[in-house]
Amino acid sequence: MFRPMDQYDLIIVGGGISGLTLAARAAYGNRLSSLVLEKEQRLGGCLHTWRVEPGFWVELGAHTAYNSYKNLLQLLQERRGLDDLVERRKLGYRYLDGTRLQSPLARLNWFELLLNLPIGLARARKTAASLAEYYGALFGRGNYARLLSPAFAAVLSQPADGFPAQWLFRRKPRMKSAPRKYTWVSGLQGLAEAIAEGAPFEVSSGAAVTSVKRVADGYELTTDSRRLRCRYLAVATSADVAAHLLIQAHPEIATRLSTIPMAEIESMAVVVPAQRVRLPEVAGLIGVDDAFYSVVSRDPLPHPRLRGFTFHFRPRRLDTDSKLERICAVLGIRPDDIAAWREVQNRLPAPKVEHVALMAEIDALISGKTVFLTGNYFHGLSIGDCADRSTREALRLLKTHEHKEKHHA
Ligand SMILES: Cc1cc2nc3c(=O)[nH]c(=O)nc-3n(C[C@H](O)[C@H](O)[C@H](O)COP(=O)(O)OP(=O)(O)OC[C@H]3O[C@@H](n4cnc5c(N)ncnc54)[C@H](O)[C@@H]3O)c2cc1C
Repeated sequence: MFRPMDQYDLIIVGGGISGLTLAARAAYGNRLSSLVLEKEQRLGGCLHTWRVEPGFWVELGAHTAYNSYKNLLQLLQERRGLDDLVERRKLGYRYLDGTRLQSPLARLNWFELLLNLPIGLARARKTAASLAEYYGALFGRGNYARLLSPAFAAVLSQPADGFPAQWLFRRKPRMKSAPRKYTWVSGLQGLAEAIAEGAPFEVSSGAAVTSVKRVADGYELTTDSRRLRCRYLAVATSADVAAHLLIQAHPEIATRLSTIPMAEIESMAVVVPAQRVRLPEVAGLIGVDDAFYSVVSRDPLPHPRLRGFTFHFRPRRLDTDSKLERICAVLGIRPDDIAAWREVQNRLPAPKVEHVALMAEIDALISGKTVFLTGNYFHGLSIGDCADRSTREALRLLKTHEHKEKHHA
């Protein structure tokens, strides 16, 4: 049964960090009536915190935010201050090569580095280069394969050699009043929830948008139970979902979005009594030719009784039992030591060098239109990149609105 048609100035599809940042920025700057529609019951998307017991949670998706995420921090500061940011304790990452734990330095060939670095610094350019091309030129091919290729795959949760080099390690101003590396007091999902709490926009969760069509002065959206109209539409889902939703309303944009490849990640988190685990304290592990890209530990946020680990597995390699077996081997525990575990599917865009030009083309296509696009496929995958993109799209939206109002008056 459909409820009568609801009308908003702005509807945002997707309640991840991109959608919520855009909603907050568009709502605070103006008097637009706005609604965020989120498919899941919870907000946050890739900010997905498994709250195991009061005071102990494990991240199933993103785990760390940085003080270079300035647009995000500014928004939080305006909304509710930065008191609920929690600093992450400094701990190192180790490589796991078979059964051997290694420090990054143990995998570096200094001779090869010194041979390559001077020429690499003079010649290598990030623009139009892949991670393998750029960092291979700086560090040497052998160093790249041993040290950097597994580390980039761990950071990006996907095979990353062809990833655009300009998307990683951009120099950005830091907000010095925030910790360098932090999370939120209730986990990173809490950060998304904090943006939505008491905000001047509505949120409807458990509301998957199934179709979008253009109508006289805007768009009509359909969910399982509602039909809604808006003047401005913002799509803040993954690129493939955005492509699917926009196929009728903006086929030229949808066709391009549909070419963006996606990476699947099979994530499994375990909670174990601290005294059972033989693995020393680490921030995480980098898998070398392993079934997983990375293991993210919650050791940077210590707990007196429990330790938590999320293994980000390569897709379709292991079934659930084999994953648990591998986890036990890595942590040095027995299956009955696992107090609780949880499995989720994560997805991320898997861009290659040519993706940068595609995004410029999509930006040119949406320019001047009343559709707004944001997400982790525009300038980078990080939470900070998403907040930057959303802040810019919100600004474009407000300018478009101002222009339309002036024209109308
Ligand atoms: C395993 C993993 C680890 C990561 N670690 C870090 C990290 O440590 N630090 C960092 O900065 N970044 C990290 N990232 C990247 C970062 O978390 C994501 O890129 C970012 O959170 C994406 O936000 P988003 O809002 O663009 O997309 P999403 O988080 O994917 O949100 C999109 C939302 O749209 C909703 N949606 C989809 N379809 C519909 C529909 N039809 N109708 C309504 N709603 C819909 C989804 O349910 C979802 O909530 C990590 C990502 C992953 C997967």
